Amino acid sequence: MRPHKGRLEIENNNITAKRLGHAAGALKGKGLDGLLLSDIKNIRYVSGFTGSSAYALITGAGSFFLTDQRYATQIKSEVRGFTKTIVYKKALDAILGLISGLKIKRLGFEGANLSFDSYKKIKDAIAGIRLVSASGAIEGLRATKDDGELVLIQKAIEIAEAGFREIELCIGRGVVERDAAIEREFAMRRAGAEDKAFETIVASGQRGAMPHGSATGKRIKKGELVVVDAGARFSGYNSDMTRTYCCGRADRERKKVFDAVLSAQQRAIEKVRSGVGAKEVDRAARDHIRKAGYGKYFCHGTGHGVGLDVHERPSIGPASDDVLEDGMVITIEPGIYIPGLGGVRIEDMVMVDGGGCVVLTKSTREMTCL
Ligand code: ZN
Ligand code: ZN
Repeated sequence: MRPHKGRLEIENNNITAKRLGHAAGALKGKGLDGLLLSDIKNIRYVSGFTGSSAYALITGAGSFFLTDQRYATQIKSEVRGFTKTIVYKKALDAILGLISGLKIKRLGFEGANLSFDSYKKIKDAIAGIRLVSASGAIEGLRATKDDGELVLIQKAIEIAEAGFREIELCIGRGVVERDAAIEREFAMRRAGAEDKAFETIVASGQRGAMPHGSATGKRIKKGELVVVDAGARFSGYNSDMTRTYCCGRADRERKKVFDAVLSAQQRAIEKVRSGVGAKEVDRAARDHIRKAGYGKYFCHGTGHGVGLDVHERPSIGPASDDVLEDGMVITIEPGIYIPGLGGVRIEDMVMVDGGGCVVLTKSTREMTCL
């Protein structure tokens, strides 16, 4: 049964109220009495706002949302739980006016996002208020997904997988990488994507040795490996997955590299569990690739969180201090890149859950020869 529109609105309100409550808790935990958000994804997360320009200020005395007149109508339905202000001139001046009237002593700001000029302006204008960088406060909350987010991520994955089915139909000898990428992107848009999650990577033959080799005018040749890394965005949420194909039959060496990556990925997936350090998951993949003799060719982390951003917390790499928790959605994507030969990467999205993980991407991970 289709939920009643009014009911959906109530559910949305509950979600943002809950997130706002968690944000207020995070603020207290850091000894702050105000938190100024300038990162638009973080603002979307706590308020529901889907536009591209706004500020949010969360304090013990209430939460405030400021945007410009382009969004006057949109925020009526999207933003709840905030005192809303439409700013007609400079948003930062309006924020400063708000802050100075709120008796804030320690104000958190997003150091990784607020421009130096804006920071300086705030600092000069509000003497007596201590400015504290609170980068990562909302990102930490975003790392574990709620049920509503999981539904959107699952949809973004289904759309990406429809795109992969399309690319499998068109990859072949003589096909131009860029044409394959375009077909894939069309298929994702037809399947409901609001956009691609990032620039589609189609890297064939020697170009596959570049982990982020975006599609070019190169034609795919027989016997080459083809790395395809792509994702879709649906209602703001992203998917991210990679498959490596072979055009025709793979020779022994390429098959050996592929098998090393596939079993490294499997080992890492088996490690994923709530309470496990992200670096342990990375180590499982890295150790396997090293033992297979390809250690120096695995040049990136094993994975990352995915949600409103394609790359977000947690980080699954050798230097990560993140610890996995139920509800986190992460990629597991080891790879081997050998100059002159090409590359193999296999990337799936998994959700940490119930003493292990659920693999959300469904397409086969075995080598497909096209
Ligand atoms: Zn990817
Ligand atoms: Zn990725």
